[in-house]
Amino acid sequence: MKYISTRGNVEARGFIETVLMGLADDGGLMIPEEIPVVSAATLKEWEALSYQDLFLKIFSYYTNDEIPYEDLKDMVAKSYSSFRNPEVTPVQTITDKLHILELFHGPTFAFKDVALQFMGELYSYISKKQGEIIHILGATSGDTGAAAIQGVRGKEGIRICVLHPHLKVSKVQELQMTTVNDANVLNLAVKGNFDDCQGVIKELFGDLDFKGKHHLRAINSINFVRILAQTVYYFYAYLQVAKQQKLEKINFSIPSGNFGNVFSGYLAKKMGLPINKLIIATNENNILERFIKTGVYKSGDFLSTHSPSMDIQIASNFERYLYYFLGEDSQKVSEYMKKFQQEGQIVIDAEDLKRVQAEFSAHGVKNAECLEIIGKYKAEHDYLLDPHTACGIAAYETFGNDNEVCVSFATAHPAKFDEAIRLIDIKQQFPAEIEQLLSLPQYQTIVNNSKEEIVAQLEAFYNRA
Ligand SMILES: *Cc1c(COP(=O)(O)O)cnc(C)c1O
Repeated sequence: MKYISTRGNVEARGFIETVLMGLADDGGLMIPEEIPVVSAATLKEWEALSYQDLFLKIFSYYTNDEIPYEDLKDMVAKSYSSFRNPEVTPVQTITDKLHILELFHGPTFAFKDVALQFMGELYSYISKKQGEIIHILGATSGDTGAAAIQGVRGKEGIRICVLHPHLKVSKVQELQMTTVNDANVLNLAVKGNFDDCQGVIKELFGDLDFKGKHHLRAINSINFVRILAQTVYYFYAYLQVAKQQKLEKINFSIPSGNFGNVFSGYLAKKMGLPINKLIIATNENNILERFIKTGVYKSGDFLSTHSPSMDIQIASNFERYLYYFLGEDSQKVSEYMKKFQQEGQIVIDAEDLKRVQAEFSAHGVKNAECLEIIGKYKAEHDYLLDPHTACGIAAYETFGNDNEVCVSFATAHPAKFDEAIRLIDIKQQFPAEIEQLLSLPQYQTIVNNSKEEIVAQLEAFYNRA
């Protein structure tokens, strides 16, 4: 399998090169040259597979010619041995129309673990096999950084530095990152906000000399391997529900920010999974909702909400969808993205909007509605939703056609966002893994929002024996 850029100006690459590249060299995003299609008969056979075996089946289409099966199998086994549930992503049945796929049983209690545990193993494998030094560098508003650090801590050949805005992530997120004291992990707490952190990272990755000299690699969800790892649980969820009840097609409701998770579902659909609608749940940062409803893709004002991991104004994975929407025409994608950069918006006509609406629905959830849903599900189903998950459930309730079965994603454990849960007077018992973080020492270096200071810290980190 080869991979190409949505903008068409990168020579076709293999899987490993694609993973190492991250953002495509022409500024686009990497996608498979051709999407493999799984037949209904094969899908039926897959009902009997464990999560890990299903992962292997799906990845084999994409990595076959580069990663020997036994190597992949070994990586997958290691990746998911850190999950607290043997099913990795278990399905909870709420009603015969609503199932919740729990994606939070990994080390940091949010869905980013599903992809980043594997990505850590994969980077380590590439490092060993190709003698590559890998220095992962990224900025986080909380969940990605914690999951990435847990994915690579203690691994040989890899170092990771994560920038987070000092005192502007949730307490649990901060502790998950900073209580790690492995020598290959550096936490920089920047006196600024997430955009400041992201700004420095962008500059450093844009400096090709610096990037090359220090072997910098990215962790954000523009990396195709993260997308593909998430595609697995769409299949898994469908297959578990299909074992329980007769299914024609299924809907998914997805708490969304960067469009990464939604795009994984779109890929699953293109691979032949019988998905009817992908329901995009956003919070008050609703660029995706506005696009699906009006055909205008334009960012609005940034708002802080109860679901901070979805507080995103530009959905970086949207370009991947645009590519397929525009008939796989990379010339057109380049024109649209250029227009977006220059004019700040993309507008599609009414005909095209119908095509979008045939595949997606969207609902932007206000803070009050989010809390109301948490209270309602606790009272009616004795199920405690985290605020991100609640957005997905609210969107399901808005669109839940009585004849359609929906799987709604639980993207984080409620303990991770207790700040919101407490607002409606619900007291929760923290899992022991989170409780014990509160008494551990923290390792982080607090720096000013200064590129020079950050570079100095990085150079010292990379020069350490
Ligand atoms: C990252 C994150 C999201 C948003 O996922 P995208 O792939 O960016 O759309 C939703 N919920 C939680 C808890 C997250 O950490």
